[in-house]
Amino acid sequence: MHELSLAQNLLEIVTKSAEENNLIKVTTVSVVGGELGGIVSDALQFGFEVSSAGTIAAGATLLYKELPALVRCGSCNHEFLWKTYGYSCPQCSHLGGAMFQGNEFYVEYIEGDGEEEGNNDPD
Ligand SMILES: [Zn+2]
Repeated sequence: MHELSLAQNLLEIVTKSAEENNLIKVTTVSVVGGELGGIVSDALQFGFEVSSAGTIAAGATLLYKELPALVRCGSCNHEFLWKTYGYSCPQCSHLGGAMFQGNEFYVEYIEGDGEEEGNNDPD
């Protein structure tokens, strides 16, 4: 289950970022992962809960968003879904292209409470 090691990496990023932004508590972590990573959202959630226990990010809500794998045609530059068409362009039938999305894993944003001036904006 590679989600656990992903969750641990994620926690390192989150902890570092929280420190840099003077947060005393992390409430939400939004993560984006490419389709090819095959990340199981529930497993990542679980891994994050386990890893974050006792840290600044304990109890934070983890949001996971998956990006589809996309291929750009080597002939006409049309962009299409790898899952549907593979590397065969639906527009010009050219076979071959470059995958430019589908392998990412990154933190989109982090929300939390700061240590100064409270955090009672009415929203
Ligand atoms: Zn094409």
